[in-house]
Amino acid sequence: MEQRRYTKTQIKNIAEGVLESYSDGEFPVKVLQIAKNLELEVYDATFDKDDVAGMLKAKEKKILIAQSDSPLRQRFSIAHEIGHYVLHYYGKLFEEKDQEKHISFRDNTSSLGFSVREIEANFFAANLLMPEAKIRELYSGGFSMEEMAYFLNVSKIAMGHRLEYLGLIDE
Ligand SMILES: [Zn+2]
Repeated sequence: MEQRRYTKTQIKNIAEGVLESYSDGEFPVKVLQIAKNLELEVYDATFDKDDVAGMLKAKEKKILIAQSDSPLRQRFSIAHEIGHYVLHYYGKLFEEKDQEKHISFRDNTSSLGFSVREIEANFFAANLLMPEAKIRELYSGGFSMEEMAYFLNVSKIAMGHRLEYLGLIDE
């Protein structure tokens, strides 16, 4: 049984640290810029399997993203793969060195989508693209879910999940 390695608070803090150190502080968050600042190269790719959304080749510092996906989905996938790199390869808490290649499946089509590392990378991505402080600021400013999704350049579904998680809207 795989143990959870990070608490949600740890992941939130790590994602905020990445934003602090590797982004320009503007919104929407520039995921390609963050990847570049981490010396990760991002490539479009065609995968044999339809359910692969992205892949991290950590040792080669490459992120491959399914080119057939929508721009919003690709954006989330890049943030997710950055999460794998930071949490599961580069990070100090990383214990095993067997994660040099990480394939990320879509969570709705593969049970692998529910593995601990997938959940951690998704939570990292949510915190990277939709930082809690920014959301609370927008929420206080009276912005709707749709407006926030547009402002942060994320899907309405992702925005909705994030607002639910933060307790700002009902499920
Ligand atoms: Zn993944």
